[in-house]
Amino acid sequence: MTMNNNNSEKRILEKTLENLSFAKNPPKLGLVLLAMLYLASYFAMPFLVNSPFAVDYNGTTIGIDSFAGVLSSIFNVFAIFLTLYYGDVGFSISVVVLILNIPMIISNVMRNHNLGNISGVFTTLVTILTLIVIYVNNKRIEKYQDKLMKQAVTDILTGLPNRFACAELVEDLIKKNQPFAVLSINLNGFSDINDTMGFDIGNEVLMEISSKWKLIADMEVSGTLDFIARLGGDEFALVIRKYKNEKELMNTINMYRDVLGYKLLIHDYEIQVSASYGFVEFPSEAKDVDSIFSFSNRAMLKAKESKEENNLLRFNEEMLIDRHITELENEIKAALQNNTIYYSLQPQFDMNHKLRGFEALARIKDKRGNNISPGEFIPIAEKKGFIDKVDLVVFKKAAKFVGKLIQESGCDFTLSINISVKHLMKKHFLDELKDILDVSDLPPHNLEIEITESIMIESVEKAFKCIGDLKAMGIQIAIDDFGTGYSSLSYLFNFPATLLKVDKSFIDKMDDNASSRKYVETIISLGHIMGIDVLAEGVETEDQIETLRAIGCDYIQGYVWGKPLKDKEAREVVLEASNA
Ligand code: C2E
Ligand code: CA
Ligand code: CA
Repeated sequence: MTMNNNNSEKRILEKTLENLSFAKNPPKLGLVLLAMLYLASYFAMPFLVNSPFAVDYNGTTIGIDSFAGVLSSIFNVFAIFLTLYYGDVGFSISVVVLILNIPMIISNVMRNHNLGNISGVFTTLVTILTLIVIYVNNKRIEKYQDKLMKQAVTDILTGLPNRFACAELVEDLIKKNQPFAVLSINLNGFSDINDTMGFDIGNEVLMEISSKWKLIADMEVSGTLDFIARLGGDEFALVIRKYKNEKELMNTINMYRDVLGYKLLIHDYEIQVSASYGFVEFPSEAKDVDSIFSFSNRAMLKAKESKEENNLLRFNEEMLIDRHITELENEIKAALQNNTIYYSLQPQFDMNHKLRGFEALARIKDKRGNNISPGEFIPIAEKKGFIDKVDLVVFKKAAKFVGKLIQESGCDFTLSINISVKHLMKKHFLDELKDILDVSDLPPHNLEIEITESIMIESVEKAFKCIGDLKAMGIQIAIDDFGTGYSSLSYLFNFPATLLKVDKSFIDKMDDNASSRKYVETIISLGHIMGIDVLAEGVETEDQIETLRAIGCDYIQGYVWGKPLKDKEAREVVLEASNA
C-alpha cells in the first residue's frame, strides 16, 4: 500500500469522525449572527411585554404583549442552536443570557402584580437544563473523537506514531518545502525471533527498541528534530529535520543505529537484533511522498541484500534500474512458470508481395496485462541465464501452430525463430530442436534460425560447428541485424547463412541519406555474390519498397506490409496466399 493511499484513508477517517458531531466546523459568521439575534430577542422582550399597543384582527383586539410568548420560544430556540453548533462559546453565551433573563421575568411579575408570567422562569430553567444535556453529550462525542483520532495515528503496540501520521508529516513538510531526510529501517531476521521465541517476546522486542528510539527523538539528544514512526511489522521510519550538513545527518542516523549495537534483555533472554537502513533526502533526491518512501525503502532493501549487519545505504538512481531489472526478471520467471509466454508472427514477403514466411517474436504481458517489449526482456533473460527457456517456449508454440498450418493449407512457407547464440551453443540444443520438430509436424526445411550477427562473432568457431549441424538437417540460417556487427569479409564468406537481414536502422536512413542507400546496396550485392538472399527489416513506407526494389533486395519485413500478427490473422494471410 502506498503512502498516498494511507493518507487518503486517514482523511476519510478524519471526515467520518468529524461527521459524528453536529459541530462540523460551522462558520464564525453564523456564531455572530446567531448571538446578535439571540441578544436582540432578549432585549426586545421587555418592550414587547410592556407594550401598550394592540392590533385588530377581524374585530378581535390582540395586545402586542401577547406575542411575548412566541418571542420567548424563538429566544430559547436560538439558545439551543448556539449550544448545539458553537460548543463552549455558544453554551456560555446562551446560559449567561438565560440566567440574566430570570431576574427580568421576576421583576416583571412584581411590577405588574401578575403571577401568570412566573411560568417563564420555569421555561428558562428547563431550557438551561436542556442546554446542559446537549453540552455534556457534545463533550462526550468530542472525547471519543479525540480518542479515535489518536488511535488512528498511533501504533497500538509501541505507542509510536503510525504510517498515517508519518505520511502526513512528510506531506506537510513537502508542502512547506522544508528540507528533511527519511530513513527506512527494517529489522533483520525478526520473523526468526517470532518463530523461535514466540509472538510475546517478539512484541516486547519491538516495544523495547521503539521506546529507546522514542527517547532519543523526544529528548532531542541527536541535535536534530526527529520523528520516529512504526510503519507496521518490523518496519520503521525516521524523519530527520533541522540538520545543517551531511555530518549532522549521519550523526543522528548513527545514534539510532547504535541502539541495536547492544543486546536487549527481555525476560532474562539476551537478544541481539540488527536492522537494515536506507535513506533519502528531500528535495534533492526525491520530491513527492510516494517516491520518498519508495526510494528510502529501495535503499534499505539494497542494504539488506549485502547481509552485513546494521548496513546503511543512501538512495541512488542505479537502485531504480536494479529494481526495474528485478521486476522484469520476476515477470519473465512468472511467465515461464505459468506458461504465458506467447508469440506474434510477423510476415515476410518477396518484392512482389508474395508470402515468404513469418518471424516468431516473443511476447510477455506484465501483471497489469500490458505488453513488455522484447527489447527489454530479451537482454534480461540473456543476462540472467534463462533465454534458452524463452526461446524454446516461443519455438515450441510457434512450430506447433505453423507446422499444422503448413499441413492444412498445403502452402510452403518459412517459420523464422530467434535463437540466442548462447543457447545455440549449448549441448542439448540440437536434441531439443529435434524433439520439437518431431512433435510439431514442421518440416526442417521450413524452419529458419535467426542468429544476431554481433553476438555470433564473439565465438565464431564454436558457432560454426553448431550451424553446420543445423544446415545438415536442412534448416535455414539467417544472420539477424546485419550491418550492426563487425563481421570480417572472410568470415562472412565461410558462414553457411541462407539469408542476410539488413538492420532497420539502415533502412530508416536510406531515403534521405545517399551513403546509407549505398551501404544497403553494397550489402545486397555482397549477399548475392556469396549466394545469400537479402531481406530488409523494418520497412515502413512505399518509398522504401521502391528503393529496395531498385537496388535488388529480395525480401522485405516491416509494418508497411505486415505488423506482428496473432495466430488467427496469420492463418488468414496464409489462406489468402494459398488461394492467390
Ligand atoms: P528482431 O529479431 O530484429 O525483430 C524485429 C523487431 O522489429 C521486432 O520487434 C519487430 O516487431 C520490429 N519491427 C518489424 N517491423 C517493423 C517496422 O516496420 N517498424 C518498427 N518500428 N519495428 C518493426 P520486437 O518484437 O520488439 O523484437 C525485438 C527484438 O527482440 C527482436 O529483434 C529480437 O532480437 C528479440 N526477440 C524477439 N523474440 C525473441 C525470441 O523469441 N528469442 C530471442 N532470443 N530474441 C527474441
Ligand atoms: Ca529476428
Ligand atoms: Ca533484426
